[in-house]
Parts: sequence; C-alpha cells; structure tokens
Amino acid sequence: MTVRVRFAPSPTGMFHVGGARSALQNWIFAKQQGGVFVLRIEDTDAARNRPEWTEGILSALDWIGIARGSYEGPYFQSSYAGEHRAAAQRLYEGGRAYYCDCTRDDVQARTGPQQRGYDGFCRDRGLEPGEGRALRFRTPDAGETVVVDLVRGEPTFENKLIEDFVIARGDGSPVFLLANVVDDMSMGITHVIRAEEHLPNTPKQQLLWDALGVKPPVWAHVPVVVNEKRQKLSKRRDKVALEAYRDEGYLADAMRNYLMLLGWAPSGDREIVPWPVIEEEFRLDEVNPSPAFFDEKKLRAFNGDYIRALPVADFVEACRPWLTGTGTIAPPPWRPDEFDPAAFAAVAPLAQTRIAVLSEIVPNVDFLFLADPLIDEAAWAKAMKEGAADLLDAAIAAFEALESWDAESLKATLEAVGAERGLKLGKAQAPVRVAVTGRTVGLPLFESLEVLGRDRTLTRLRAARVRLV
Ligand code: GLU
Repeated sequence: MTVRVRFAPSPTGMFHVGGARSALQNWIFAKQQGGVFVLRIEDTDAARNRPEWTEGILSALDWIGIARGSYEGPYFQSSYAGEHRAAAQRLYEGGRAYYCDCTRDDVQARTGPQQRGYDGFCRDRGLEPGEGRALRFRTPDAGETVVVDLVRGEPTFENKLIEDFVIARGDGSPVFLLANVVDDMSMGITHVIRAEEHLPNTPKQQLLWDALGVKPPVWAHVPVVVNEKRQKLSKRRDKVALEAYRDEGYLADAMRNYLMLLGWAPSGDREIVPWPVIEEEFRLDEVNPSPAFFDEKKLRAFNGDYIRALPVADFVEACRPWLTGTGTIAPPPWRPDEFDPAAFAAVAPLAQTRIAVLSEIVPNVDFLFLADPLIDEAAWAKAMKEGAADLLDAAIAAFEALESWDAESLKATLEAVGAERGLKLGKAQAPVRVAVTGRTVGLPLFESLEVLGRDRTLTRLRAARVRLV
C-alpha cells in the first residue's frame, strides 16, 4: 500500500509556523516511505478564507522546500461539497445519523447548564430532513474508540462520553469534521499527521470512518507549539507567520532545521544539521508528545550561525532582496541608482559575521549608499562631547594628508591623532564613526572608510564639524 499523507491548512490567516512544522513532518514522512504528499486547502469557511492566504501558504511552502509541482494538489475542499453532502446522506439513510431540531436553549432547559454536549433527545424521534434541522451522528452507547497514534500510542476514548455530534448544519452544509474525513477517504490518505489541537476531534472522526465503512488512517498528533510562557502560540500575541520570518531575513535552511527541532532532536548533541541528514534521521515515532517551545531567541542565534556558514558569494546573493527591496520586502532607504554592488561586495564579509537576520544588513551598510548618512541623534549626542570638534579638525587634516587611503593607514593615523590628545583609539573613533555612518556601532570603521573613499569621508567629517560650531 502506498503511503499517502496530506497537509490540510485552512487559508484563514498568515501561514503559522506550527503549520509549517507539520507540513515538513508530513513531507519527510512521505519521502521516507516512498509515499505521496497531498496538499489540500480547506477553504469551506467562506467567511474566513481569502485567496491571498492560500497564495501565502503556497509560496511559504515553496520557500521552505515544499515546492509547487513536487506534490499532489493543491486540491480545494470547497470543490468537494457534493461528496460531503452525499456522505451525510449515506449516514442518514444507513441509520447512523438522525435529524434534530433542538436549539441550544432547548437542550439546556432539559438538562441544566452543567450538561456538556447534546442529550440525545431526537435520537428516536424519526424526524425527517427539514430547514433548520441539523444532522447528528449516532455515537455508539458502549465500547471504546482506540486511536492508533504514532506519537501518542493508543489514546482511548469511551464512546458513551462522546456526544451525538453534528455532521451537517440546519442549512444542510456538512461541518469540518465530516468534510475532512470524506476528503481524506477519497484522497486515499493512509496517515494523518497533524497538530495535537485536533486530537479531541479524532475519536469522532474515526467513528465516521468506521460508519462509512473504510479502514481509518494511522494518526500522528504532533505537539502543540508554545511560547516562553507555555501558552499556545497565537497570531494575536506572538510572531507566528512564516512569511514574517522570511521577510525579516531568516534563511529557509535555518528555519526548516529549527522547525524540525520542535518535538524532535537528531542523534548526539547536534542541532544544526544539514537538511538531507534530517530527512534521513527524522522519525515520526520519536516525536515527543509534550508541548514544543518555539524559542525565537534561539532561532535567531541559529540563523546567525547559518548566515556565517554561507560562502560569501551566497551571502551577497542572499542579501539582495533587502538591498533592492524585492517582492514583499520593504525598499531600503537609498535609491536604486545609489546602490553600488562592488562597494557592497567589499564590506559583505565584515557584515556577514555581525548580523543574525538578513534585514539587519540595511542599517549596517546604508552609510555607503546614501548621499548623507542617517544620523542617529542619540548617538550623535553621545559621541560629540567636549573635544569632539578638536578631534575632528585633527582627523580631517591628517586624513587629507594621507598618501594611501587604506584601512591600515587610516587606523594608524587616527590612533596617532587620538594619542596626541591622550585618547585611546576607541574614544578617538567615536566622533569619526558617528560623523561618517550616523551610528555608534557598525562595521569595522577603517575598512568602512576605505570603501567609502576619501572624498565622501572627508565631506562627512567636514559637515559634522560645521554642525559642531
Ligand atoms: N484544516 C485544519 C486546520 O488547518 C486541518 C485539519 C487536519 O489536519 O486534519 O487546522
């Protein structure tokens, strides 16, 4: 039997990192089993779906290596409404479901507010279908439903505790629980790998598989993803959108490596592991069922390591979208014609060791491309204290006299200027750095000045000097 898995996101928002983790686990499992990965967009909730969310999912999947064209689908759940209705009808005709006209208030009036779920009032009333009548599944009164779950063993649910749940609403439309099962069935899904949040649905869904006469899939409920307060990651509170991480400059390789560590670890002490090794070593049945902490700080550090490991040419290439403002990435503060690729290539190795996400490249190199540096006023106030004017005068004069405009000579020159004033190099650098780059921190100063060139450096030093008068 060919293994067939599916990833079935609902396009109701940005693409959640927890969803990306489940997608990758499905993807790897299919690959390991020589199986098929199916993408199904669960777009039946018309009020909450938007086409751009679907596009966001497709492009984000593409970004982390689940490329369009390399999987089956995307299928759209809304196209199968006829099949969902037919299944509901079959369950009704087979006596596995019945119509119910109770309102929530009716149920409460009969049972009191403590009662959880439906009391089975309409089970044997023999109601015909009709406007406003919901279709409910007749759950078995006895026995238990045992779910085979690769991550959780065999969670067991007592049938008598499962209410007669709704499978089609009063307007006849089937609910998610049923649509999801019918699609899995018709798409021949053998393994359902999805987030723990769906575990409470699983006994109900498995009862539906049984009632429709098809052997249920093997399940794997992978752990919920939580923040540092152990709260489930939420799009209102936490940064959860894969697209946001991409646009901030996380590398796809770092991201997918990190996502795979949510609930699983490669052997040994390794965490940074090449993707082919993860694809080989990952085991679904080794996934830890406890909540997985999404540690943004760790991810950031991880990304920094990945950035430093890139060949410089790849790093230069990877920075390009932030240097040019491509696609969904905000344009940099300089004009396209101000950008100088050769100057960037010259400082790229210095920047590569200093940034943790690619978007940080912009404030590190903007001084090279802007006609005037963006002056950070707090940095200015800090650096331009007493003595700064005198130091800048001396630096300007010494730099003007320099024969060779290179980092080493620039450093020796400023060192001498500082020493004459009893200043260590660090102190002597501060006003020069702020005058030229606008900031107190940044790339190594003298290499920066070398690349910026004599004219532009001197112009900026003089402009700063004028401001200090
Ligand atoms: N559409 C559901 C969701 O996005 C997925 C259901 C499933 O994987 O079975 O949560």
